[in-house]
Amino acid sequence: MKAVALISGGLDSALGAKIVMEQGVEVYGFTVIYPFSESIKTAASSYAERSADELGITLYSHKASQDFLDIVRHPKHGYGKNMNPCLDCRIYMLIKAAQYMKKIEASFLITGEVLGERPMSQRRDAMNIADKDSGLKGLILRPLSAKLLSPTVPEIKGWISRDRLFDIQGRSRKPQLMLANQYGILKFSTPAGGCLLTEPNFSKRMKGLMKFKPDFMLKDIELLKIGRHFRLPSGTKVIIGRNEQENNKLLNLAGDGMIRLEPQDVPGPVVLIEAEANDEDIRTAAMLCSMYCKKTVAHIDVFKKDHHQIIKLGQEERVNDFLY
Ligand code: SF4
Repeated sequence: MKAVALISGGLDSALGAKIVMEQGVEVYGFTVIYPFSESIKTAASSYAERSADELGITLYSHKASQDFLDIVRHPKHGYGKNMNPCLDCRIYMLIKAAQYMKKIEASFLITGEVLGERPMSQRRDAMNIADKDSGLKGLILRPLSAKLLSPTVPEIKGWISRDRLFDIQGRSRKPQLMLANQYGILKFSTPAGGCLLTEPNFSKRMKGLMKFKPDFMLKDIELLKIGRHFRLPSGTKVIIGRNEQENNKLLNLAGDGMIRLEPQDVPGPVVLIEAEANDEDIRTAAMLCSMYCKKTVAHIDVFKKDHHQIIKLGQEERVNDFLY
């Protein structure tokens, strides 16, 4: 008997998998790498890998791409407090996991969800919606809260003993920590608040992107994660690197779709603006670039595809009121 377990790198998902493994089921891990789940410090996927390693199971990672961005644009079940479409995101993950289940001929899916632990996606009604919309009704086993939920197919068919499942609910972590101790699970990340879409500042940037560039791509999301962002009166976006690491990332992301500005002869930031920018936008971006140089700068290099231009700045060309 095979089952697929959603693995996030947190304790709950590791426990969900472990509880079922203890009943003799062959468990395979599955995780989704979201464009918004990457923190600056550690990618969420590496936590999942560490967790799968400790459990001794295979992990399949699905990289969410353009199809996930469509969900962020138009979530069927709406947003949470910020731009986080948690329920739709959950359903997306379940659908992708279902495809993996089919591929490896697994009979059911395991999640580490705990009833009432998270406000948007771990309510009983949200779980029911997720089960239905993912096409996995009856096939999603939630071992930590199973005794509080309707019996699932694996329980009804006797593949899994319901008696050996749990009735944990709420936000207290004590029961899970006791189980971790019992099963010897040591490697797990502490519960994070959520992905970048739950952060107010990032959500503000996201809303700006959706308004001014509704057909945004994955590369636009990467750009949202770095630098200082300015929106000029024309609607053109200006991004300014804050340090060498960000400057290098901006250089990598620049491509043909962006105009690049750099100060001439003095240390300073890499600046990107959209290729559609007009002459006035480019001049304003040059002034912004000068503001973040360590020394006074007189000339800014402007690179647009194969074209190179030099902007000469006057002393008075300083602006500071476009920051958002
Ligand atoms: S916090 Fe982000 S990654 Fe997590 S469920 Fe919500 S939208 Fe998805």
